[in-house]
Amino acid sequence: MATGTLHIDLEAIAANWRALDALSAATCETGACVKADGYGLGLTQVAQRLRDAGCRAYFVASAAEGLELRRALGPEPRIHVFYGHMAGDTATLQRADLVPMLTSIEQLTRHLEALPRQPFGIQLDTGMNRLGLKMAEWAAVAEIALAADPVLVMSHLSDAEDPDCPRNAAQLARFHEMTDGIDVPRSLAATGGTLLGPDYHFDMTRPGIGLYGGRPHVRAEPVVALTLPVIACFDIAAGEGVGYNASWTAPAPTRIATVAGGYADGLLRALQPGMEVMAGPVPCPVVGRVSMDALTVDIGHLDADPEHVTVLDAHHGVDALADGAGTIGYEMLTALGARYLRKYRGLRPIG
Ligand SMILES: *Cc1c(COP(=O)(O)O)cnc(C)c1O
Repeated sequence: MATGTLHIDLEAIAANWRALDALSAATCETGACVKADGYGLGLTQVAQRLRDAGCRAYFVASAAEGLELRRALGPEPRIHVFYGHMAGDTATLQRADLVPMLTSIEQLTRHLEALPRQPFGIQLDTGMNRLGLKMAEWAAVAEIALAADPVLVMSHLSDAEDPDCPRNAAQLARFHEMTDGIDVPRSLAATGGTLLGPDYHFDMTRPGIGLYGGRPHVRAEPVVALTLPVIACFDIAAGEGVGYNASWTAPAPTRIATVAGGYADGLLRALQPGMEVMAGPVPCPVVGRVSMDALTVDIGHLDADPEHVTVLDAHHGVDALADGAGTIGYEMLTALGARYLRKYRGLRPIG
């Protein structure tokens, strides 16, 4: 086996979707955010499993992702595009029957001119200052936009993973101010907002990270495991350096295992120092720099050379790994490279 193996548990993803779905009322639909290749875990596999679990509404970033998803899901489910209707996207949006979530007056104009009969949604900016119409813009065009029958009006929270952050309530109030009284389904909550409680749910939630086992969905079932094969094991003497720039020097004679997997596989250089991998139940420190395709691990305390080591498992999740690199589970997941052999649990049979 030449590369690492990324084990992806689609049953756990489905269970996590059901658990988040159960948090909102029956009148609130639960969608699924599958942008960036299903958070790095495989757009087609993830979305098909969620469809079988009952999910009917999907969210991706770009029209190109939407097209790929349409091919995977067939004609029924609704696919929303966060980038909205960008110049050059018209043909793809139409062909793949995508719902652009329009982000500006410019996009609204473009959409109504180019695809007047194609369903669309609207993004409102309630304070995050990333995408969506601002209060004054919405006031100026709401009448025209609503006359064209949007299928969804949404906004996005900047701090939903922190229930104590006052920006949540401020954004909620702004969303009410901008949308109360309109006769269009509304959506405000991603994973964090779903966990904030019913005030944040409106008509549709659109969780992403919580499906894939990441914070803030701390009760999620673990979804990923990552094992890396050992390429070579050898002894080194006290005082010898390991890896680029000899950033680690052996304080005593020890044994090193070189493992197949490096920063090109999403094992960020920033994980060092401090990263550990598991040889069975035994933690082993990664020593020396992470290189493009390899990690070096101190295995001096093991009884035997391991055949492989584990980087992620049920007890060592993406968030713990991310903490070590000063980043977030989202970035770890989406960084996991395309070189791994992917093994799915709960994959639907082909055909
Ligand atoms: C990514 C994203 C989501 C999903 O967010 P999670 O925190 O992963 O649940 C929902 N809405 C928008 C606008 C997003 O960009």
